[in-house]
Order: sequence, then C-alpha cells, then structure tokens
Amino acid sequence: MRKFSQALVFASRAHAGQHRKDGRTPYINHPIEVMNLVTEYCSDPDEEVLIAALLHDVVEDTMITDAEIRAAFGARVARLVAELTDDKTLSKEERKRLQLSEVHLLSNDGKLLRLCDKICNVYDIIYAPPGDWDTPRRLDYLQWAKAVVDKIRGTHEELERKFDDLYTTGIKILG
Ligand code: ZN
Repeated sequence: MRKFSQALVFASRAHAGQHRKDGRTPYINHPIEVMNLVTEYCSDPDEEVLIAALLHDVVEDTMITDAEIRAAFGARVARLVAELTDDKTLSKEERKRLQLSEVHLLSNDGKLLRLCDKICNVYDIIYAPPGDWDTPRRLDYLQWAKAVVDKIRGTHEELERKFDDLYTTGIKILG
C-alpha cells in the first residue's frame, strides 16, 4: 500500500501539467483509469501490476527514465512499464505497426495492462476525442486498437468482452 501510494504521487508529479488528447483532461486521469480497470476486473490484483498501471506512460511521455522507475519501484515494475513503452524516436506509424506486431510477445501482466490501456484509449477516442481528429482518423484508431486486442485474446475474457462492446458502440457512433 505504501509503494502504491508513492506510485500515485510519482505518476501525478511526472504527468503534472500534461493533458490528454482532448486538450483539457488532466493526463493523470488516464493511468488512474487503467489502474481502476485492473482492480475492477481482477479479483486479487498484484500491487506491482497496479503500480505499473499507474506508471505505464511515464517513460514514454515524460522525462522519467527506466532507471528511475527501477530504483524507486523495483525491476519487475520497471520491466512491465518498459513492455508498455513505445519508442518515441520512431514515427507514429512505425510505433503503431510495432505495437501490433509485437504485442503477443508481452508477459501476461503486460498483455493485461495493454488490454486495459486500449479500453481506456478507445473510450477517449469515442467520447473525448482530440479536437483535430476527423471521423476517419478516429475509426482508423478504433480498428488498429481492435487489431492489437485481437492478437492477445485469451488474456482476460471479461475485459476483452468490455473492449468488444465499446468497439461496437464506437463503430455505431462514428460509422
Ligand atoms: Zn496509456
């Protein structure tokens, strides 16, 4: 619990001043939502997985390094965060392509977090979209997210069903 609470503070400081793609939602809402999905759908969630959920975007989107995560929260949390971190030196398209082609290589906990991350991101693209994204771009994101989830089916049935319901709703709203 102490580590968990430290991770919450760590993540909120790391993401301070950042916003989600809609330009108004504080960034920290996203990792909290991902963490909350894990607690909601997993009966006895592992504290390190919850911590990794809170920290999953700090290396990708802030100045925090893998070494800092390792020092503060240990090797397993750092490894999980690394599994969820895209290489920002690559183009957006290349990152999307890589995420799709490599998602099946993640650990089980990594897949679980990726699944929760996709649910939260797809929710945002449907209900709190970036102002400059037109409908085809939003549909394209939904389809890519579904392709990623399709590659890790069998990770968590209920969460996959939640993703599918959200995807279907999204296609209805946007299509
Ligand atoms: Zn995320």
